[in-house]
Amino acid sequence: MSPPPDVGAERLLEVRDVTRVFASLIAVANVSLDVVAGSATGLVGPNGSGKTTLINVISGVYRPSGGTVRLRGRDVTGTASHRLCRLGLNRTFQIPHPLGDLTVADNIAVVRPRRGATPRFDADPLEFVGLAAAAPVLASRLTSGEQKLLDLARALASGPDVLLVDELGAGLSARELEHVASLLVRLKDAGLGLLVVEHLMDFLEQIVDDVLVMDAGAEIFRGTLRGAVSDPRVIDVYLGGAP
Ligand code: ADP
Ligand code: MG
Repeated sequence: MSPPPDVGAERLLEVRDVTRVFASLIAVANVSLDVVAGSATGLVGPNGSGKTTLINVISGVYRPSGGTVRLRGRDVTGTASHRLCRLGLNRTFQIPHPLGDLTVADNIAVVRPRRGATPRFDADPLEFVGLAAAAPVLASRLTSGEQKLLDLARALASGPDVLLVDELGAGLSARELEHVASLLVRLKDAGLGLLVVEHLMDFLEQIVDDVLVMDAGAEIFRGTLRGAVSDPRVIDVYLGGAP
């Protein structure tokens, strides 16, 4: 987001005017944002507003139809996901797909750690997320909440500077949510830059410094979370429709 929270803070990710079109549908329309080291930006909006598509473009799953993505100043637009992982950008998935017939430990062991850079956060990923005791268990035996934690551990195992988090909180128990929020705050404190897609405002409030609200692919608000929840347009398209 601009301006960044601290003058001189390190801008890790710069997304400029990104558009993604599927046939005649404009899933993401001219979205720009920055992710700064040691900060978290929330990405919110109703279902179908383009949040996951934006994450897919930034993380190299889809090429953008227009616009650019820069990682630590380097143009990485259209770079494949596995290469972005090695350059220090990783993401979690809205629906994680662990390698179910491998153990939890082996799901992490197959991740190629980033080379040539000291990770901002170098704790053992399974210890960090609280799955160390489940290391010998087949990943298919984990609960859906545990699979989300494993997905976070997998992303962290590559040593990212930038972490994109897609609805990590959805479907978690209150206790799991509290745990995950504290993990994301610790990652931020370790100097990572986070982009956090989430519907749960209480969860976001604990984590994010600013938010970008999307509707129908386009930005409709940027600023603080407090500002977003009292913005008439945001209330109209999003909060007003929530149960
Ligand atoms: P969100 O994550 O905000 O719920 P998405 O980014 O998943 O929204 O979807 C935005 C729009 O793009 C939706 O209308 C969705 O149906 C469409 N969309 C997403 N991925 C594809 C795809 N691979 N092919 C066609 N349409 C897609
Ligand atoms: Mg989504």
